[in-house]
Amino acid sequence: MSDANNQKPSAEEAVSDKPLHDLKDMQTLVSLCKRRGFIFQSSEIYGGVNSCWDYGPLGIEVKLAVKESWWKAMTRLADDVEGLDASILMHPRVWEASGHVENFNDPLVDCKSCKARHRADHMKPVRELEAKLGHLPSLPEMEKALEGATCPACGKSGTLTTPRLFNMMFKTHMGPVADDANTVYLRPETAQGIFVNFRNVQETTRRKLPFGIAQIGKAFRNEITPGNFTFRTREFEQMEMQYFVTPGTDTEAFARWKEVRHQWHLSCGIRPNKLRFHPHGENELAHYAKQAEDIQYEFPIGWQEVEGIHNRTDFDLKRHTEFSGKSLAYTDEKNNKFIPYVIETSVGCDRFVLAVLCDAYRGNDERVVMQFHPDFAPYKVAVFPLMKKEELAGPARKFYEELRKDFRADFDVTGSIGKRYRRHEEIGTPFCVTFDFDSLNDQCVTIRHRDTMAQERIPMAKVRDYITDAFRNWKQA
Ligand code: ATP
Repeated sequence: MSDANNQKPSAEEAVSDKPLHDLKDMQTLVSLCKRRGFIFQSSEIYGGVNSCWDYGPLGIEVKLAVKESWWKAMTRLADDVEGLDASILMHPRVWEASGHVENFNDPLVDCKSCKARHRADHMKPVRELEAKLGHLPSLPEMEKALEGATCPACGKSGTLTTPRLFNMMFKTHMGPVADDANTVYLRPETAQGIFVNFRNVQETTRRKLPFGIAQIGKAFRNEITPGNFTFRTREFEQMEMQYFVTPGTDTEAFARWKEVRHQWHLSCGIRPNKLRFHPHGENELAHYAKQAEDIQYEFPIGWQEVEGIHNRTDFDLKRHTEFSGKSLAYTDEKNNKFIPYVIETSVGCDRFVLAVLCDAYRGNDERVVMQFHPDFAPYKVAVFPLMKKEELAGPARKFYEELRKDFRADFDVTGSIGKRYRRHEEIGTPFCVTFDFDSLNDQCVTIRHRDTMAQERIPMAKVRDYITDAFRNWKQA
């Protein structure tokens, strides 16, 4: 593409050179997502249901692309990871073995005045005490720390109940009779579906250690304080991988997976300065973990976890061996029999989609450009006939129909070219192609880059390769 072919932007699409800024508050994103069909409030016509969200026509494309990217990296491009899709409802003993029945609790306090509910361990006096003690305070210690504390919602003091433990698993019943004998849980993590299938996968694939099992699926947690859009919800999807290793090699595997996972986030176009590791201190470690680090993203609400990497030791396989009576031990080439250790990488699919949306956002009071990495752009290209007239729209449509065989494409005829550019900037379409009267004669079109606004005139026959090359050599803005 020679510079001589470059065209100046037409007057119609002239934009001021006001700088675009990053996303400053979540509400701006919530509004954009609703307006453009990325994400809607669940059951909105009934007033909405707290903490549940529906992905609209554009949002589902982003979410599917995120899953595809993760699945490809973790299974198809990995030498030693197999896939799995386990059911959500599992034998109730699974959750006794995993420790969730006993330990999956958060401390809860209610405000007797305004009825707001709070996580006691997230309240300032308890956090201060935790910092002083160096570990999470016990329930009586929390109660003492919260004496006379004010409710963060209504500001009244002395209205909080004593903290009590609240189990976050959703319960339901299997079959028509609702009694305790047939209680089942909606899984609070996908990991246990992997552990109980360890032997099935290892035997059928004849894998030797080390190897991993990857899974994408829904998880449910009855969170006390969901919120911040899709950041914390009660129903969400996880993308988890459990990597089974010989004990003694676990620390090295942990370090390797930490690096691999960090690289994946970067390969998705997330800006490096928006990512960091957060190692868990002694008092932060989950009941099963020997070592844990989070990958955090800097959301508009601050640095928060998007992915957890845990050394779960042999805790889960040991417990399932004990509770099921079936050995999950592994025998190596030297005939040593042992329970493997597990390194887990667990990323929230919805939370990562939120990070992708936050990271892509650039805006000012005139326009918004969603600068997605092309993998995550809902449309890869849009085709605009300059005018609606059939003599132009007809051949332009034919060109679009060819292009959409290779890329998810949009055909947009409404409004001025400038308006169409704005619309596709707002939904992050990397390329817009304008078909004008000259195109009928010279078989060339004008292709415009979303992030630089540069335009080039190129032969229609070369558009497919042009876009493919641009995506392959993509430099994230
Ligand atoms: P948090 O401390 O935020 O509650 P966690 O440490 O309990 O998270 P894990 O059990 O390690 O989270 O789950 C792995 C990943 O699943 C998290 O990194 C996050 O991306 C996602 N996740 C966990 N809980 C939720 C939720 N309620 N809503 C959306 N995503 C979640």
